[in-house]
Amino acid sequence: MLFKGLYFLAALTLSGSALAATTTSLPPASTTASASGAIDTATGSATGNFTFKDKYPAANSVPVPKPEWVALLNTSAIAKAPVYSNNAGPKQSGSADPYCDWTFTLCTRPDDIVECPKGQWGITYDDGPTQFSPKLYDYLDSVGQKATLFMIGGQVLQYPDLVLRAFKAGHEIAIHTFSHSYLTTQSTESIVGELKWTEQAIFEVTGVHPKLFRPPYGDIDDRVRDIAKQLGFIPVIWNHDTDDWMLGEDTSFQADWIDANATAWVNEASNATVGGVSLEHDLYSGTVDAAIRILPILKKAYDVKPVGACAGMASVYKEGNVTVSASASSLAPSSTAGSSASASVVSNAGVNGAGSSSAGPVATASGANKQTVGLALTGLVAIAAAALF
Ligand SMILES: [Zn+2]
Repeated sequence: MLFKGLYFLAALTLSGSALAATTTSLPPASTTASASGAIDTATGSATGNFTFKDKYPAANSVPVPKPEWVALLNTSAIAKAPVYSNNAGPKQSGSADPYCDWTFTLCTRPDDIVECPKGQWGITYDDGPTQFSPKLYDYLDSVGQKATLFMIGGQVLQYPDLVLRAFKAGHEIAIHTFSHSYLTTQSTESIVGELKWTEQAIFEVTGVHPKLFRPPYGDIDDRVRDIAKQLGFIPVIWNHDTDDWMLGEDTSFQADWIDANATAWVNEASNATVGGVSLEHDLYSGTVDAAIRILPILKKAYDVKPVGACAGMASVYKEGNVTVSASASSLAPSSTAGSSASASVVSNAGVNGAGSSSAGPVATASGANKQTVGLALTGLVAIAAAALF
């Protein structure tokens, strides 16, 4: 990733309680992909010998969708929420919240997955795969823990072997957009591109089409929800933010605050009315180290599992139930012996449209993170920073 300016916002609720904080990085000033911007992913791959058959937009770009993907939409049934047209991130227009904008009000809709049932914990890691992911994957393997991995499309193109490894290990592979942009700032067409290009890249590697997606920064409103639902995707947000992302944004942030967050959540488990879904990242070395430290803490009080599992989904893939086989497959012509997997499709629910997707538990804002260590904010705060991502 190129070095570029980055800002982050800490979004709080209107209730006055310190709740979920979200990072917000800016896409490049001009990121519209064009045909000439396509990359040769065969040579662009940083690891392994996987060759993508499709011709992908450049990583980091907001991708132009294929026309057939846009044709899947019923645009008359998409909420007419305003599209924030610049790169400064989402804005709040007045105190009303007609389009259920999570960033500013923590508003959720019934199909959003935000929490797990009491006593359960949905463990998720975002922004990978990265060079730091193998350490996390190794640890999860060593303790037999499955997780949900929200992957960025551009990263999938760079690390297809890690995607395949994670899929084979039994983790839930999910979508975190192609370029990690604010979806409420993107056109309908660009949102289609962000979701479908990532789905396509994951499909080429694993043979399955994910249902779950997480909007970067939790930036979702009813327009984004409608577009995603028509494409067969289910949004996952979170109700507990570890703040691990601050390791890459704020030099005054102390890594052990992440541990303190996890300990606080364990201490409140017996009185909590719902379980948790946490926000973590395999983006930096420090966030992976923190993830490894706090998993045993969370397991003291919660049944930790992938978020699709805690939401009761029969499958997190559009193909339905799949079984992962370590047998050789044409899916991944890797040079590493035995590294390819195949997904056996048990039932085919259709992969393009919404189909019959099962929604997660009814979401509420009541379980949102009340432990925002290191930040005491009473409004919307924008802080200039710089980061590698
Ligand atoms: Zn992210």
